[in-house]
Amino acid sequence: MTVNVGVIGVGMIGQDHIRRLTHVLSGARVAAVTDADLDRAQVVADDLSGARLHRTGQDLINDPEIDAVVVTSWGPTHEEFVLACIAAGKQVFCEKPLATTQDACERIIDAEVAAGRRLVMVGFMRRYDDAYRALKEAVHSGDIGAPLLMHAAHRNPSVPPTFTGDMIVVDSAVHDIDLARWMFHDEIAAVSVLKPRASRKAAEGDNDLLVVLLEMASGVLVDVEVYVNASYGYDIRGEVVCEDGTAELSESTGAIVKSGGRYAGRLPADWRERFVRAFDTEFQEWINAVAAGHSTGPSAWDGYAATVGTDTGLEALRTGGRVPVTMRERPDLYKGE
Ligand code: NAP
Repeated sequence: MTVNVGVIGVGMIGQDHIRRLTHVLSGARVAAVTDADLDRAQVVADDLSGARLHRTGQDLINDPEIDAVVVTSWGPTHEEFVLACIAAGKQVFCEKPLATTQDACERIIDAEVAAGRRLVMVGFMRRYDDAYRALKEAVHSGDIGAPLLMHAAHRNPSVPPTFTGDMIVVDSAVHDIDLARWMFHDEIAAVSVLKPRASRKAAEGDNDLLVVLLEMASGVLVDVEVYVNASYGYDIRGEVVCEDGTAELSESTGAIVKSGGRYAGRLPADWRERFVRAFDTEFQEWINAVAAGHSTGPSAWDGYAATVGTDTGLEALRTGGRVPVTMRERPDLYKGE
């Protein structure tokens, strides 16, 4: 079966997902697109064989020829489109965030629980990265004892001046927040945010480098350095310290060249290069699940937990204190994941 996918929002990542659905993966075709900018959507549709242009996301979701929907529009629009997909009984892949407020995430959870089956997958692609999967396997292999602490670093070469201090938590640390829950099969109990001296590259009044400290319910600690103007490259690090050993993310790609008394390797330019295979795997697993008539991957519960985590992180950033995480009870639909 070929899954007919409709894409809402054909900006930067929407176009990248259309490329992978069209040219890289198997089992799906992009059959319709829409965007707030209809001219942009028309250009994208013209480039695809037989793809329809819809005037609104709602029209695209209601199109009977569309089997499943990808939501890659601006974050504040996600709730409306995800709820409409649930109402239409269609599988939906929603880029992070699931929604921008906890209340909106809860409305999605309530709608999915009422529908009685999972229809939502949230785009936390690090879970599909080979290196992270190998790290998780090593941590849970039983060979190095129970995990105690994870050191993580999330460094971007640079961000535009419009990238605010809050975005370090909401747009960057959100990936580490999801990753920590996935890595340790656990919820976050409390969040603190520490600030070193301000970098000269940080915007006035903002810190650039932040240390986000996550206390997992089991007691495992996760310290995440988030540094968005690190200059030298895109560098993602992770080391889990366990009772009898440690496991560390391997460098992602390429060769280490030794010559003239030095050694050197290449760093990815940005997250697209670092996680390109993870995005491919993430989408292939989603297509396979949709074709088989079920859902997979990070759920609406995971999307809700990430938004609770970033809200708690923002409060910790503002107050300078340790902020406990408060979450609603996990509905049965999401138990055992
Ligand atoms: P973008 O380039 O701004 O693209 C968003 C597109 O959605 C724009 O073309 C925008 O049109 C359109 N849009 C806005 N409101 C709409 C509506 N109501 N109906 C239809 N289209 C609408 O943003 P992006 O960087 O692609 O990000 C999109 C989403 O992906 C965000 O939620 C972001 O957080 C997420 N993302 C995730 C990752 C990841 O690592 N997983 C990476 C990047 C982005 P206008 O420009 O005319 O407003």
